[in-house]
Amino acid sequence: MSSPVIVYPPELPVSAARDEIAAAIRDHQVVIVAGATGSGKTTQLPKICLELGRERIAHTQPRRLAARTIAERVAEELHVELGDLVGYKVRFTDQVSDATRIALMTDGILLNEIHRDRLLRRYDTIIIDEAHERSLNVDFLLGYLHRILPERPDLKLIITSATIDPESFAAHFTSRNGEPAPIVEVSGRTYPVEIRYRPLSDADATPEESAAGGRGRGRPAGRDSVKSLRSSEPAATEPEDEVGAIVAALRELDREAPGDVLVFLPGEAEIRDAAEAVRGAYRSSTSPVEVLPLYGRLSAAEQHRVFEKSKVAGLRRRVVLATNVAETSLTVPGIKYVIDAGTARISRYSARSKVQRLPIEAVSQASANQRSGRAGRQSSGIAIRLYSEDDFEKRPEFTEPEILRTSLASVVLQMLSLGFGDITEFPFLTPPDSRGVKAAFDLLTEIGAVDLPRGSQPRLTRVGREISRMPMDPRFARMLVEAARAGSDVLTAVTPIVAGLSIQDVRERPSADAPQSVRDEADRMHARFVDPTSDFLTLVNLWNHLREQQKELGSSAFRRMCRSEHLNYVRVREWFDVHRQLKTLVKAPKHSGRPATEGAPDPDAVHRAILAGLLSQIGILDERTASTSKNKAKGEKRRIAEYRGARGIRFSIFPGSGLRRKSPQAVMAAEIVETSRTYARTVAAIDPAWAEALAGDLAKRQVTEPHWSKDAGAAVAYEKVTLFGVEIIPKRRVQFARI
Ligand code: ADP
Ligand code: MG
Repeated sequence: MSSPVIVYPPELPVSAARDEIAAAIRDHQVVIVAGATGSGKTTQLPKICLELGRERIAHTQPRRLAARTIAERVAEELHVELGDLVGYKVRFTDQVSDATRIALMTDGILLNEIHRDRLLRRYDTIIIDEAHERSLNVDFLLGYLHRILPERPDLKLIITSATIDPESFAAHFTSRNGEPAPIVEVSGRTYPVEIRYRPLSDADATPEESAAGGRGRGRPAGRDSVKSLRSSEPAATEPEDEVGAIVAALRELDREAPGDVLVFLPGEAEIRDAAEAVRGAYRSSTSPVEVLPLYGRLSAAEQHRVFEKSKVAGLRRRVVLATNVAETSLTVPGIKYVIDAGTARISRYSARSKVQRLPIEAVSQASANQRSGRAGRQSSGIAIRLYSEDDFEKRPEFTEPEILRTSLASVVLQMLSLGFGDITEFPFLTPPDSRGVKAAFDLLTEIGAVDLPRGSQPRLTRVGREISRMPMDPRFARMLVEAARAGSDVLTAVTPIVAGLSIQDVRERPSADAPQSVRDEADRMHARFVDPTSDFLTLVNLWNHLREQQKELGSSAFRRMCRSEHLNYVRVREWFDVHRQLKTLVKAPKHSGRPATEGAPDPDAVHRAILAGLLSQIGILDERTASTSKNKAKGEKRRIAEYRGARGIRFSIFPGSGLRRKSPQAVMAAEIVETSRTYARTVAAIDPAWAEALAGDLAKRQVTEPHWSKDAGAAVAYEKVTLFGVEIIPKRRVQFARI
């Protein structure tokens, strides 16, 4: 193997500190490298490791987008082909070979490798990048590595962090002689950044007033902002204010020196809206701006444009519209100005209602400072915050680690399968709270993955062991396990459904300001696939259509077809990819006992398999009446179709569902999301009695009205069966033994 020539860009702080870093790695098992974004941690540390003679380096990233982009960059700096000395592994693609010494990967991939390689022997060096984000995966990895380090004295662990509390990592990895792990600080030169506050509503209104006034988003600061969610429901709060504020901020920057602008927005939809508005505002301008979106689901080529020189002639400036991927993990070059909407999508799990939400929330002060810091890397810059200083001051200092706000079911399952019985003993940086752990056990019990014998340790069941090897939401994994049991025809139908549920909807709804005719056209296109009893079967119809068209058309014609039918081509490809992956993960046993039917399987069998993963997400119709707001005075009432769900929750069917008008008697839902109301998304009509067999001991039976029946010559009674408080069998006659 020929050694690459290693050159360090002289301007990077990490290059200047490389002897110090190398010495720390040589002398210690764990080293923390902290430094401002852009100082060279991500791209230069693997090179330092190479020079130290490390042979098998795992380098983890929180996002797929970053893993791939960084692998490309490191390969480029070393003048090697990607996939050779430098490769990457993400959920759907591997680009590694026997020659690979630096493997970029998502932290989820490294976690999954533990199952086959308990001590991670295939690596001699592990770089956990972006540890300050404190994702659940990073926290679990850091706990796990803490456990195995004594058994792997040859393993080096390097943890990198933005300049946010690196001491907590150092303290976690205190060596046997009581020394915390060394921290190497590499913050280089930064230039002053002027912060300007430009709140969405009246500049001098306090956040409370603007919220009460109902104009704009009026985010109350700090914890309270959790309540002011921007939801994904159709009547979301006005995003126009935000878009307008971004254009106004750009106009303000037009009066400043040249330089590119980085805009932080919470998600893809907001980025697309803003991109359109900015392009529109500058369309007739004599010096054009180039608008570049940057978010996870863009194609590789589209993402790349951000790192390439612009091809537009006479360009005034570039405007990069990004999610928080640009906050610390990717360095967008040439940025002098930042516009910060101040929000991000942050996943939250309610242990009480067992509902996962993805609300848009105000980011912490630390995040806001990271964002504005991006303007001061090459010269002095300006950051415009679309919120008030008062709002900023009231925000929490740091974002809560994910372990305190997300579902722990996957982690608990992983831990059981790796043989860590007692979670309270696991060396977490921040221990999860006990309600979260209990909620995880509840879910795992619900899907039959775990046995909780009274007074003894929880045990994985056979189903649980199968599920723990499947890198996906445990509910979805459970569906596949059940489908495989039901036979290959059922599995064939359920696999694309589960793949479809694992990705974002491929159907694209034009934004609210698109012409009505375009929106009608999209609705008409999508309506062709609707099954009025099941959104899951709708997915199957859409899937079959896409597969047929893909077979028939060449790839560019297929891409055009997707566009004209309002289907997102990139997500369609992702759907195909995930489907291919799932097919290799789960196979139906050869002799499943049930003969496979010809053609499409029995829809009930498909729905029963899906129900195995959704037992607590069923609901029974419970209409209520409400005064209509228009006709309140006249006392007119209208009926609202609501469902009574598990543990007392109530929900309605999401307006986008094909079942919205039908309101069947009983439904199951793939997802229950809490926005301003609680909605069930992706639903199907079911026979609730199906749940009885799947629920086992979880179903509760209550006997009433026992009496002697002359006709039967036996004692009879009525039995009610409930599951999590939902009546799945309201009344059935049971007969006791004849005398
Ligand atoms: P850190 O991890 O400390 O934030 P990086 O190693 O990501 O820093 O970036 C170091 C420098 O390398 C950046 O300032 C940027 O100029 C450059 N860089 C990183 N990735 C790319 C890329 N894909 N294209 C061009 N330049 C890049
Ligand atoms: Mg980095």
